[in-house]
Amino acid sequence: MSYNPNPTRYEHMLYNRCGKSGLLLPAISLGLWHNFGDDVPHQTKVDMCTTAFDLGITHFDLANNYGPPPGSAEKAFGCILKNEFAGLRDELIISSKAGYLMWPGPYGEWGSRKYIVASCDQTLQRLGVDYVDIFYAHRFDPNTPLEETMLALDHLVRMGKALYVGISSYNTQRTKEAYSILKSLGTPFIIHQPSYSMLNRWVETDGLLDTLGELGLGSIVFSPLAQGMLTDKYLKDIPQGSRASKNRSLSTTFLSEENLSRIRGLHGIAERRGQTLAQMALAWVLRKPEVTTALIGASKVQQIVDCVDALKNTIFTTQELIEIDTYAVD
Ligand code: NDP
Repeated sequence: MSYNPNPTRYEHMLYNRCGKSGLLLPAISLGLWHNFGDDVPHQTKVDMCTTAFDLGITHFDLANNYGPPPGSAEKAFGCILKNEFAGLRDELIISSKAGYLMWPGPYGEWGSRKYIVASCDQTLQRLGVDYVDIFYAHRFDPNTPLEETMLALDHLVRMGKALYVGISSYNTQRTKEAYSILKSLGTPFIIHQPSYSMLNRWVETDGLLDTLGELGLGSIVFSPLAQGMLTDKYLKDIPQGSRASKNRSLSTTFLSEENLSRIRGLHGIAERRGQTLAQMALAWVLRKPEVTTALIGASKVQQIVDCVDALKNTIFTTQELIEIDTYAVD
């Protein structure tokens, strides 16, 4: 069945400027790390992407290895681009990354020019596009000179394969070094992708958010719901089909009594604010001006609807923030 985008899709979403760049990103973006592999029916993926787009989510985040198997999330999204999203390329911001293991041998992971350039070419093929909007170095490579990895990103831009570049999970010091190299090259480096949530505050303690503000870079924060822990999902038990029940990236050991009591405390505050815990968790990361967009994942359409409704209440009182701090510890 053909897809007709919601004509009012841009009326309710908030679009934030990414650092000091010209690019606006939706306050909520959708990532395709989980639930976009070959183990999920294609129609579910279509429904999630079209629902997101209808709600004003213009940004979809991928990486070479998202699946399973690796590469299948990009292929599935490529199929959606060809069908449901045909003719909409200029309304979309598509990102991808290279850094983790993708193919066997010495050239299939980390940060060499050989790997980054080859991986980006494979990504473009799987997606069926000429360029991605943002291409990231997915992780810092301690064994490759930073200049080499950054020059590879710069090369992708000069070849027309990426419009902007970013880095993911680099600490403050490495971010400053990457910035200075890319600045000298004139590369459009506009964004950092770190993890950040009420249960994971390293970007505050490491000084990364402050640094991004000083450098004029934006940020897209991943796992703002702590992979689903910052929702009402695990308050009673571990539901069948949930990420924790699969015990892959979200180990049940994270659902310790200590974490659960924090989650219950936060849930109580969200209830008083008239929000779901997921909505409060998203509003909370977005309270920081350095956070351009919260990068969620979803297994169901309804979760995306619930998350976007976070934007209906993003203001916190000082008292609420103080109370949240008593539970929101790493
Ligand atoms: P989240 O913290 O948003 O967790 C997503 C999970 O939370 C969903 O799969 C779902 O769990 C649950 N959920 C989402 N919304 C709701 C809701 N409203 N109510 C109840 N449960 C909800 O993010 P992810 O960990 O999925 O990461 C998001 C994206 O970030 C990835 O897709 C990827 O693009 C990026 N990422 C980047 C990394 C990097 O190294 N740069 C690393 C990790 C992620 P369930 O499946 O159990 O239903």
